[in-house]
Amino acid sequence: MAKKQDINNNNNKVTRLLDNEPVGMTVQVVRVMGDGAFRQRLLEMGFVRGAKVTVLKNAPLQDPVEYMIMGSHISLRHSEAAQVEVTDKDAAFCDMEDAYNGTVETSVAGVDPMADDVLRVVLVGNPNCGKTSLFNNATGAKEKVGNYGGVTVDSKEGWFNVGGRRVQLVDLPGTYSLTEYSPEEMYVRTYIRDHHPDAIINIVDAGNLERNLYLTTQVMDMNIPMVIALNMWDELEKSGDKLDTEMLGRLLGARMVPLTAYNGHGVDDVLQAAMDAIDESEQETHHHNVNYGTLIEDGLKELGDKCPDLDRYTVLKIIENDKHALALLEGQDNAQEVKDAAANLRQRIERNYNDDIVSIITDLKYGFVRGALAEALTPNPDRATDETKPGYSLDRLLTNRWLALPILLVLMWLMFEATFTLGAYPQEWIESGIGWLGEWIGSVMPDGILRDLIVDGIIGGVGGVLVFLPQILILFFFISLLEDSGYMARAAFIVDRVMHRVGLHGKSFIPYLIGFGCGVPAIMATRTLENRRDRLVTILTIPFMSCSARLPSYLLLVAAFFTAKQGLILMSIYLVGIIVAGITAIVLSKTLLKHDKTQFVMELPPYRKPTARNATIHMWSKGKQYLQKMGTIILAASIIVWALGYFPRHEGQTPQEQIENSFMGQMGKAIEPVVAPLGFNWQMGVSVLTGAAAKEIVVSTMGVLYTGEADADEESAPLKEKLQTATKPDGSHVFNPVVAYSFMLFILLYFPCIAALTAIKREAGTKWMVFEIFYTTGVAWLISFIFYQLATL
Ligand code: GDP
Ligand code: MG
Repeated sequence: MAKKQDINNNNNKVTRLLDNEPVGMTVQVVRVMGDGAFRQRLLEMGFVRGAKVTVLKNAPLQDPVEYMIMGSHISLRHSEAAQVEVTDKDAAFCDMEDAYNGTVETSVAGVDPMADDVLRVVLVGNPNCGKTSLFNNATGAKEKVGNYGGVTVDSKEGWFNVGGRRVQLVDLPGTYSLTEYSPEEMYVRTYIRDHHPDAIINIVDAGNLERNLYLTTQVMDMNIPMVIALNMWDELEKSGDKLDTEMLGRLLGARMVPLTAYNGHGVDDVLQAAMDAIDESEQETHHHNVNYGTLIEDGLKELGDKCPDLDRYTVLKIIENDKHALALLEGQDNAQEVKDAAANLRQRIERNYNDDIVSIITDLKYGFVRGALAEALTPNPDRATDETKPGYSLDRLLTNRWLALPILLVLMWLMFEATFTLGAYPQEWIESGIGWLGEWIGSVMPDGILRDLIVDGIIGGVGGVLVFLPQILILFFFISLLEDSGYMARAAFIVDRVMHRVGLHGKSFIPYLIGFGCGVPAIMATRTLENRRDRLVTILTIPFMSCSARLPSYLLLVAAFFTAKQGLILMSIYLVGIIVAGITAIVLSKTLLKHDKTQFVMELPPYRKPTARNATIHMWSKGKQYLQKMGTIILAASIIVWALGYFPRHEGQTPQEQIENSFMGQMGKAIEPVVAPLGFNWQMGVSVLTGAAAKEIVVSTMGVLYTGEADADEESAPLKEKLQTATKPDGSHVFNPVVAYSFMLFILLYFPCIAALTAIKREAGTKWMVFEIFYTTGVAWLISFIFYQLATL
């Protein structure tokens, strides 16, 4: 790399990226300021010295801004763009091509790939480069593919057969780099370190090699046999660019295989190449690594000899003063010696290149990639510019300053409308099916506890949850379409400004939206957020988004006690939830989960045509999750709730008397003093208790308590009438609009259901789950109390 020259000598004006408001302007990056992780991320996304950045557009609310860099679209907030120093686009201050110094070879002793009894190949690549498509194609699995960063945060395992051998294939989450900054990066890095795969298939988007190959330079240093799959080969061919794969393979020292993952073209070649790489590694393997020049290479060798157990990647990271890499030294006898030597080396390198170590290494890696591409890639001179690409006019509309938000709202409305109206049909069928099953079993089985358990406990309880399956499926079908088309990332871009107000990231918008359907998948969807604090705040506030399970209670109460403006009343409940979530988010991000920076570095993937196949796959996998994960919990909870209401038994009681004298009834009466200030009686107390298992159960409990029928629902006229006419011992009505509204507020806000809590526990830990139980219930009590007391003054 050419030594950094003093830019001021060239009379180039250095400004901030932020100041270059005019859309369409192209400038050149000088440097990125700011702190470690954020800066690193920007560097990895391509904001390196000399890279050209084009200002594409402002979000409808003016912040963030979409930029194009290295062929990809990236969104930055104003505050982040202010960290990037840029200069005139033609300023000649850096000759990046110099940086290609070829590769250096390391030989690694042979390993027995069957030492751990499985052949394991892992998929590593940027988000959206087609890993899951390849995975599905190779293994016949049906995992969700998506056009939205962070869709896969777990790893998925499958098997393929090649030449009579059975090989495990692991789909890892997409990452831009292996620096352990985001959960995905951490995951991939740790996975490779701990599982020592026998080969890595590094998938790259052939249409965006510069950025994609950056990750490759890191993977190369892991010294694991590697194959580079050049995916989206169809798009590359269509673009008219010419890529000499043989030459690129030689320059990078890696096997290259063209691939079109989504139709399966080239999949077998990729798998075969991976097997060849494994077979070779049984002998001695020669790994090719980026040649960083004498100074750094000598240092790497010197330091590498001091810690023979660490791979080249880690040794380089130690020189970079990376805290995760340094942590790996702990326990080693010569840890201090290594650290001192690394610090010394770092100083020498920084002095030599007159820059800081992180940007030096990133620059060198990008320089290597650019150098190689300059040789091997011949861009089509007539290549379609952004403006002639499909999706351009669509994007202009979807992110239009005035239309973006209305379009977003209409799309959301359509999605929910379709979910509820279309879902109502299969819901009815399931309901009658369950009703029929219960009756049939009830008629063939002899009276007794077992029959009651099966009919009321199991079929009643699980059935109550099963009826929501169609709606969940439809909701996720739509979400999948939105994700796959690339619209989700735009939605995050559009609403970021609003989310930022409550201290969150635009990406939180999607989990919240899902939360109106069901909190469990919503909580899982927060995995797309990089910042742990952001994630926690989002997870903890999702339960305030009124999920579909609460709707039956509202419908019943609204129908029974409000004759006019029913729609508005219902909407106000949803609004209260959103407001409470907003306030909670603000308070949390200013107190317990204080953090100053939520970054908005986000890639906006190209628009792609969503496929019905993908959407269906996604729908089924979510449906399965819903049935499995919730089914087990709900089943257990239903049985417990049933048992608490069923025992102790006394002869000759009416159903109402039975429940009144049951454990559940006793509990309801015990908590009556606590809920009385909210306007509730013990029956409502019981409903609230049973609803803790799943909020659908609130209505069925009311049904048992007021009509003696377990299968009451929001439409059952007798229940509605019973509620309207129920009286207290003193003859006054139990319910009136004020009590009903107070009850709805409480149902909205209190204790998330057990399934949601399980999800919170898994994603955030037990401590936060316990916090959530007390916080939500406390807030619910307080708000219902204030409302009821004020309204009855
Ligand atoms: P992942 O995030 O790396 O797992 O990528 P996915 O497999 O989810 O794919 C991302 C997007 O790229 C999806 O919309 C795919 O349909 C699309 N895609 C995958 N492979 C190809 C390909 O070879 N050619 C084209 N044109 N699109 C592809
Ligand atoms: Mg994926």
